[in-house]
Amino acid sequence: MSNAMILDGKALSSRLLAQLRERVEASKARGIAPCLAVVLVGDDPASNIYVRSKERKAAKVGIATRDHRLPASTSTAALLQLIASLNADATVHGILVQLPLPDGVEEQRVLQAVDPRKDVDGFHPDNLGLLMLGTPRFVACTPQGCMRLIELAGVDPAGKRALVVGRSNIVGKPVAQLLLHANATVTMAHSRTQDLEAEVRRADIIVAAVGRPELIRGEWIREGACVIDVGMNRVDDGGPKPRLLGDVEYTAAAARAGSITPVPGGVGPMTIACLLANVVTAAEAV
Ligand code: NAP
Repeated sequence: MSNAMILDGKALSSRLLAQLRERVEASKARGIAPCLAVVLVGDDPASNIYVRSKERKAAKVGIATRDHRLPASTSTAALLQLIASLNADATVHGILVQLPLPDGVEEQRVLQAVDPRKDVDGFHPDNLGLLMLGTPRFVACTPQGCMRLIELAGVDPAGKRALVVGRSNIVGKPVAQLLLHANATVTMAHSRTQDLEAEVRRADIIVAAVGRPELIRGEWIREGACVIDVGMNRVDDGGPKPRLLGDVEYTAAAARAGSITPVPGGVGPMTIACLLANVVTAAEAV
């Protein structure tokens, strides 16, 4: 039976959004209406759902969104031109380029063209560099959400062994930096790691960001560990609709963990709340 504290990202994100609503009102009262420009290229169904969900939540807290939907055939040059016009537009405070961009578009060139002060995703090298230096401006949203969930668990990372599984630029690397700044002893695992089970068994905090359903077995989890599952894997196992599974074998892990995020309802909602928090921060800095 599970004694783990279930880290309810949905409830925590609702509390965060309520605070944001107040900050948006205050910003509007001084004549600045926070606005997020969303750039969506092509018609990837998952990206469409994700963008719609961001826009719905933005509307709820009073943040305006401006949609730029472009065909998959859009050139890098045309995208760079759009980014330049959004950078120059004083009424736009945050720019979000939905990933992945279609093949043929130079993703890094596009991301690096975003004004770092409007880079609410925290993917620009300036913002990643500032994070590394320990003086962050915009921190990538999913890693920020992971840290808030660890805080919700009542776990202070200082002196703890933290394992980050996955080394992507958007999740694994920034979350490892945040854990390091919070004084954890950080290990990063990836596809070349020799003995993932042994790494998991010694970890007090595990952040799983891999994209492989239930790769991390419940029996590997150390008693009392804090488990943050970023993975979102749609698995079609013949049921009426595909199931959404995390990177951690949830039920077995919950029987051993001290705290654990569910999938869905853990990290996912926190990502959007942290994105909108970055937009408000960008508007407040004007
Ligand atoms: P990614 O760019 O594909 O990176 C996956 C990482 O996992 C890579 O570093 C890879 O190692 C590592 N890996 C692959 N197989 C492994 C194995 N067998 N053992 C250990 N490590 C392994 O993925 P991402 O963008 O970080 O996303 C990861 C997951 O999080 C996905 O399921 C994604 O949908 C989800 N996600 C969720 C949210 C949210 O808001 N909840 C946000 C972003 C992402 P190498 O570097 O060696 O290839």
